[in-house]
Amino acid sequence: MSEVQNFDVVVIGAGPAGYHAAIRAAQLGLKTACIDAALGKDGKPALGGTCLRVGCIPSKALLDSSRQFWNMGHLFDQHGISFDKPAIDVKKMVARKDGIVKQFTGGIAALFKANKVSAFYGYGQLQPGNIVKVKQHDGSEVELHGSNVIIAAGSDSIELPFAKFGEHIIDNVGALDLEAVPKRLGVIGAGVIGLELGSVWKRLGSEVTILEGLPNFLAAADAEVSKVAAREFKKQGLDIKLGCKVSGTEVKKDGVHVSYTDDKGAAQEIVVDKLLVAVGRRAATKGLLADGTGVKLNERGQVEVDEHCHTGVDGVWAVGDCVRGPMLAHKGFEEGIAVAELIAGLPGHVNFDTIPWVIYTEPEIAWVGKTEEQLKAEGRAYKAGSFPFAAVGRAVAMAEPAGFVKVLADAETDTILGMHLVGANVSELVHEGVLAMEFKGSADDLARICHAHPSLSEAVHDAAMAVHKRAIHKA
Ligand code: FAD
Repeated sequence: MSEVQNFDVVVIGAGPAGYHAAIRAAQLGLKTACIDAALGKDGKPALGGTCLRVGCIPSKALLDSSRQFWNMGHLFDQHGISFDKPAIDVKKMVARKDGIVKQFTGGIAALFKANKVSAFYGYGQLQPGNIVKVKQHDGSEVELHGSNVIIAAGSDSIELPFAKFGEHIIDNVGALDLEAVPKRLGVIGAGVIGLELGSVWKRLGSEVTILEGLPNFLAAADAEVSKVAAREFKKQGLDIKLGCKVSGTEVKKDGVHVSYTDDKGAAQEIVVDKLLVAVGRRAATKGLLADGTGVKLNERGQVEVDEHCHTGVDGVWAVGDCVRGPMLAHKGFEEGIAVAELIAGLPGHVNFDTIPWVIYTEPEIAWVGKTEEQLKAEGRAYKAGSFPFAAVGRAVAMAEPAGFVKVLADAETDTILGMHLVGANVSELVHEGVLAMEFKGSADDLARICHAHPSLSEAVHDAAMAVHKRAIHKA
């Protein structure tokens, strides 16, 4: 073992939370190291975490490819465009996705170099005294001391005891790398990952059945949004079965047999060619902490932190998916930056009230702030205004009129409390709500801001006007 190398900041994990922390710390003049254990498909180290390798970016690449394919069969005709039967080359589509992943993971390595972040490739374990022992891929070990250590170990897919991952039962990693369109795809879990990856393969021709344990569809979203989304998914042929408790799987010659009880308590079975298990993710903290570090894990395996992402152990912080809060890349980005700034003596902060949520299905779903159901449960008086895309010229011109925008505002002060959207490109539009809420804006503020015509953003404008019952384009 070589002698201990000293840094101002040592980051464990180079996913969204870790690489943001490392680069920001280096920008602030702190001598920084970042360790990551992950390997890419080519067996070489790949920075960027779940998000860049097997999460946000590759899933959006496949969502976009499959959307183009689906539109050829379902939208182009309305524009008067016809052609011979569309065909999909899955290997080429996946290769395009792999190219994008390589470009972005390589980009993080280049950013580390440009910002003088020292990258270490291997598995890091925190020891007492802010030492991180790194077992590198070549078998050698190094010890890094950080005046500050930032744990950004991220998360892994949850495996069900009766559905072990293998060739036919897969998680997100497998679902992003299928070599052909499965005739029948089963999905356990109608959450973000299940819906997005289920949509990819449905659009390419799979018969997709999604089994969800909860009785309500997309319970975290505003109920009106969930209702419209469920209707649109049904039209696309996604078979979403709610209130189903999956109890077992068996891989047989004719496919994976999945047994479950339905919402009426009756025993059922489906047979599928591939089964995607998307029941959530768990903090990747197993083996991360040696004895005696003082860092605590909660019952869900997450690193315990305060509102500033501090663990309570001098100089040890934790950010991203391995701590409490939503498992979203952009939440990790902001925590990583905030902690780097706090270490440098600056006022780092993350506002959890304005973190946007997006589901990249067709139509897209997005929201920020409170839902109507949450406001009712809190007993808070509010006003609501909504506006349908069917009355927005741009959406109709695009032949994508499904969905609406809803603005919720405090009944007395008019401060915006939430914005809920379902429709085309709402992953972009939601940021009007984020910005307005961050600046404590009111529905009237938003209603008085000039929006370009024709644009989808007019739905946001008119929904804000509708809060005061003065939407121009609404009868
Ligand atoms: P991770 O990205 O998980 O990175 C942690 C890194 O640390 C990994 O590279 C891991 O190898 C490394 N590591 C862990 N332990 C050690 C150790 N002891 N030593 C060395 N290295 C270690 N979020 C969004 O916001 N938008 C999306 O559209 C979106 N889509 C998603 C789609 C899918 C299919 C999935 C699975 C996730 C998606 N997410 C999305 C979630 C997003 O990927 C995560 O929230 C985000 O990656 C978390 O970032 P992180 O830095 O905390 O952890």
